[in-house]
Amino acid sequence: MSEKVIVSKFGGSSMADLTAMKRSAQISADQKANIVVVSAVYGVTNLLIDASKAACSDTWENTLKVISQIEQKHYSILEEMKADTTVFEDVRSLLSEVRTLTQGMNLLKECSPRAYDSLLSLGERLSSTIFTQVCKEIFSGPEVKFFDIRTVMKTSDDFGKAIPNIALISKLSEKHLNDCKNGSVVYITQGFIGSTEDSMTTVLGRGGSDYSAALIAEGIKADILQIWTDVAGIATTDPRLVPEAKLLDEITYSEAAELATFGAKILHPTTLTPALRANVQVFVGSSYEPEKNGTWIKTKTESSPLIRAMAKRDDQIIMTLSTPKMLHSHGFLFEIFKVFNEHKISIDSITTSEISVALTLDDSNRLNKKLIDQLSSLCDVKIEENLTLVSLIGNEINHTPKLAQRIFQSIDDINVRMICLGASKHNFCFLVAKDQATECIKRLHREFIK
Ligand code: ADP
Ligand code: ASP
Ligand code: MG
Repeated sequence: MSEKVIVSKFGGSSMADLTAMKRSAQISADQKANIVVVSAVYGVTNLLIDASKAACSDTWENTLKVISQIEQKHYSILEEMKADTTVFEDVRSLLSEVRTLTQGMNLLKECSPRAYDSLLSLGERLSSTIFTQVCKEIFSGPEVKFFDIRTVMKTSDDFGKAIPNIALISKLSEKHLNDCKNGSVVYITQGFIGSTEDSMTTVLGRGGSDYSAALIAEGIKADILQIWTDVAGIATTDPRLVPEAKLLDEITYSEAAELATFGAKILHPTTLTPALRANVQVFVGSSYEPEKNGTWIKTKTESSPLIRAMAKRDDQIIMTLSTPKMLHSHGFLFEIFKVFNEHKISIDSITTSEISVALTLDDSNRLNKKLIDQLSSLCDVKIEENLTLVSLIGNEINHTPKLAQRIFQSIDDINVRMICLGASKHNFCFLVAKDQATECIKRLHREFIK
């Protein structure tokens, strides 16, 4: 019987230091992974962002302080592993790119979207360079090869959150990566990063390595995508919010996708789309405790509980747009959606009344003056910030009597700002003030998860 084709992805905490890297390499070898996709060393993407901010607004000396933390993280791993000089040289040259790019930003006191993506890409390029060497020392069968994923991960030029060109990625994956399928070679590559058709480096957005791994799995028609992280699977809620959160053995694609979309950091929201498209089975497990069960994401699960899990997504904005012109007329929503479309801003939830419509948006959209001016020419615009979207994920949510009563009774002293129910049988969500959201999740968890 032929072996299953496996893409394994390891996040930042699984790349935190040499011990974590060795553990991740051992898991990859034990699992007979065909392609291993890695994130930057833990904390490095944040440091690269800090370096770009310092470069644009601070002195070179202060920028260097951030850069030296990035350098230190990588050199200390190399020193501990007593890496040979070629790896040292490769890492040194990537780290000098960090300096060159930030120096340019510091001189101009400006960070262009292109330069920002190139800088951020260095986190994954550095970790994968070191991790390849760690794997070479651990794998005994297949030949371990470094692969620059920018060769196949072709994207749009929406720097910061580039959109993958799925057809091209699949075509190029087949061309460049297919030889891993017979088990003679294992490719170690980067998550998160890609490149435009004219080879400008891009990134897929924060947490995007999960998405990269799913796209590669789709591209090579893998059987299994493994997401190895710092928790032993998907839990009923973020264990950092509720330590009693229970690990789930299984969850459906729809539930997991809702959970990711509505804020559970465990998976990047778009991860499951390629997996579903290409019929790839998805597993989430802990690289710290690989022997623990983990969670399988399935088309159909044995049980379909009313509430399977819950999540919160911070930094939400409610924008209320009002105009008497909405009264008994048509075309108003079309006009305002056209404006959001022009600014490439996605709207998460929406409710309407007689003469107004309330929308929720993610704060990361960075509302600009032009957008507000355009909307203001159509209607009155009111913005409320510092809100959090709380979501309950499960089944038949829109067909269950008394569910709303149970939810709101358990948080009866907390003001609910907006409610969204009805669009999906898998989701019930509402907005509350950011500082009350964790309390909401705790109470709802107590009420619904036994
Ligand atoms: P990685 O670096 O491996 O990509 P992330 O930090 O992105 O890891 O995601 C793992 C984190 O997701 C966990 O440490 C946990 O705090 C958080 N998380 C949020 N919601 C859940 C959930 N429902 N189940 C498990 N972990 C969750
Ligand atoms: N390193 C990137 C980030 O921190 C991508 C990822 O880890 O998924 O966002
Ligand atoms: Mg992640």
